[in-house]
Amino acid sequence: MPAQKLSFETGGDFIVETRREVDEYLKSRRIRAWGRAQLYAKAFVSFALVAVSWSMLMFAQPGVLLGLLCLAGVMLGAILIGFCVQHDANHGAYFRSRRFNHLVGWTSDALLGFSSYAWRVKHNVAHHTYTNVDGYDDDINQTPFARLMPSQPQRSWYRLQHIYIWALYSMMVIRWQTGADIAALAKGRIGNTKMRAPKRWDLAGMIAGKIIFVTWAIVIPLLVYPWWVVAIGYVSFAMITSLVTATTFQLAHCVEEAHFTTAEELGASKTPWAVHEVETTVDFCPRNAVLTWMLGGLNYQIEHHLFPRVPHTHYPRIAEIVRRNAEKHGVRYTAQPSLWAALRSHQRHLRSLGRLGVPAEIEMG
Ligand SMILES: [Zn+2]
Repeated sequence: MPAQKLSFETGGDFIVETRREVDEYLKSRRIRAWGRAQLYAKAFVSFALVAVSWSMLMFAQPGVLLGLLCLAGVMLGAILIGFCVQHDANHGAYFRSRRFNHLVGWTSDALLGFSSYAWRVKHNVAHHTYTNVDGYDDDINQTPFARLMPSQPQRSWYRLQHIYIWALYSMMVIRWQTGADIAALAKGRIGNTKMRAPKRWDLAGMIAGKIIFVTWAIVIPLLVYPWWVVAIGYVSFAMITSLVTATTFQLAHCVEEAHFTTAEELGASKTPWAVHEVETTVDFCPRNAVLTWMLGGLNYQIEHHLFPRVPHTHYPRIAEIVRRNAEKHGVRYTAQPSLWAALRSHQRHLRSLGRLGVPAEIEMG
């Protein structure tokens, strides 16, 4: 566990000017209302998709083809809730009220099966504050299964990580639903970030969420279908939602173009926080409107990291401001032109980190 307390310089001309322009853009009440309206419409579509598809599966019990289509509907709805509803709400972007944001964010407990309380520590604090910092950003720590940044120690099996990593990614949601939430509670921390034990409403929400999730995803289906159908349905639901989620996050941070660092390096370099966020993050497919809609703007991950409390529906416009100011202040800003380019960069990054530092005889053998 890193001993050093990590803190950043908060200001700098780049973020001061960018913030001023973004505030100017968001001054218009009409623009703010339109952004919120799009956010709420998406939430409605996401919940409706899960509700209709699941109800069809449970009450109409369609044949195989329609059944698979309904299962795909539940998955798509869950992915939309993950990217476009719980993520924004847990960042505080849905409403002004913290309580309402937490309530909407709690959909991750009830509908996706993982704790929003633990998510806010893992994602909002550990990942968003200490992006790509070894030992602090839990998203980038997969040791001893994979090596995602240069400062992590080498193991011979990492030479194959670019192949088996996809199996690891597909287990991510099941790990969050079970082991990761419990481990975070037991250890009282996620990565190097402290997690206080949940109390009262937080604790009640965590327990109730798990019960609701297990009830709709496993218990009720078991009353309708044979156990093996439920097992296949649940595992494919968990694996596909995991793959899409993990890949989206990794394409933004775990690619050749992203910067990785350690607490010691950061302490010496005195990089301002906003510059650190831009240089450790990469946008992809900024012109792809369908992907932008589906991923809750997470292909504009640089803008998300700088303005996590602004609804994601504003990111395409904010990106123009950020890009222009990054260029002006000499901050490296990267956007992959296509999904394919981003995937290839992730694959090359995994390959080179898997090989790097392996003794020659192993490399050759
Ligand atoms: Zn986020």
